[in-house]
Amino acid sequence: MDPKYAAWEALKLNKQLLEGVQNCGFREPTAIQLKCIPPILGGAHVIGIAQTGTGKTAAYLIPLLLKLRYRQGVNPRAVVLAPTKELVLQIAEHGKKLSEFTDLRIVALYGGIGPKAQIEELTQGVDLIIATPGRLMEIYRKEGLVTKSIQTMVIDEADRMMDLNFMPQLRQLLEILPVKKQNLLFSATFPARVEKLSQEFLDFPVKIEVTPQATPAVSVKQGRYAVPNFRTKINLLTHLLKSPDLNRVMIFTRTKESADNICKYLDRSGLGPVRSIHSNKGQNSRINAIREFKSGEIRVLVSTDVSSRGIDVIKVSHVINFDVPVVYDDYVHRIGRTGRAFELGESLTFVTPADEYHIEKIEALIKTRINKLSLPSEVQVESTEFGESQDIAREIDRQIRRENPDYQGAFHDRKKK
Ligand code: ADP
Ligand code: MG
Repeated sequence: MDPKYAAWEALKLNKQLLEGVQNCGFREPTAIQLKCIPPILGGAHVIGIAQTGTGKTAAYLIPLLLKLRYRQGVNPRAVVLAPTKELVLQIAEHGKKLSEFTDLRIVALYGGIGPKAQIEELTQGVDLIIATPGRLMEIYRKEGLVTKSIQTMVIDEADRMMDLNFMPQLRQLLEILPVKKQNLLFSATFPARVEKLSQEFLDFPVKIEVTPQATPAVSVKQGRYAVPNFRTKINLLTHLLKSPDLNRVMIFTRTKESADNICKYLDRSGLGPVRSIHSNKGQNSRINAIREFKSGEIRVLVSTDVSSRGIDVIKVSHVINFDVPVVYDDYVHRIGRTGRAFELGESLTFVTPADEYHIEKIEALIKTRINKLSLPSEVQVESTEFGESQDIAREIDRQIRRENPDYQGAFHDRKKK
């Protein structure tokens, strides 16, 4: 064994898994991997919290694969749950690469295509399932899955999985899984609300927190531009994309419509190749876009928050927040796309007057001041259209009222006249 891999050996990896981590090119464990692998091997319930891009996937996959050892029977013995099909596919791919030198069988279950082929795959025998909760339940109901041998459950992106949309599904799932099993939760953010919910099924967990919560990867240089309106944002974006330094860029927007519009605009302006992904796009179109982005065939990916969670794209040079996210944790997740796996990255956020309020809340959350950058002189500053200035005024009113419920509102005063 290459002495470079000694740190992995110290974690009691067997020969197959040592070859697996070499296969992935991981010379040494990351902090979260170092801290999580021993207690997971020891059978503890573990809550693992670490910023995006720090290798949480392998932090649970490696001990899971070690515990499963070799193929056995036909029924699954462990299950990993994740919120989206893209993420399920990515985790399954990661697992297959790590376990290439074992005979373990990993099956990915996700929606968007019929369940028939997946059920067929399960009947051939499986050791580890990676699944979205919805599809797992669906297959269980079709009697395509026997759960009694499941000894370990992992919930990845736990904060998202335990939000209001997912929690009912998750509770249903817990009903059909054996009560006596090891439970593992992983997430970049772990709000108190989620912690409380987790107590429903986690007895005496070991909580492993590698960095303070909601701290963006330190390797990300963060900047912000003050822009008066949408049209100026477009000018700024165009200007920025003229620089070849921005060689692999993710742009985030608040809505699906603006993701599509920006995509079309950039395509027409010859600043691509560019694609957009969001929940209205078909499964294949989304997967293809991500694959092409990873391979470098496309330069710019425009996305809404929902579609991007957890997607690991190595070496994204820049993240551009065309809109400031209103769910503040999303900021951390967004900029986690860049600076992954110890690469240097840069994030640029466009801030309209209506966003000032939100960006301050974000700065408080991440306990960091985002660098204020001045608009490059080449960027044409446009005047604000009437509809947009009304929207901005209304939003600022709403913010002031939120902070001070007695406030009557300048905007509404004006409207009454
Ligand atoms: P997280 O889930 O914490 O956001 P991922 O598990 O998706 O992070 O890993 C982020 C990137 O880091 C991936 O490209 C992964 O292959 C890589 N990575 C994971 N562990 C290591 C390691 N020990 N050494 C080098 N790269 C790693
Ligand atoms: Mg992850």
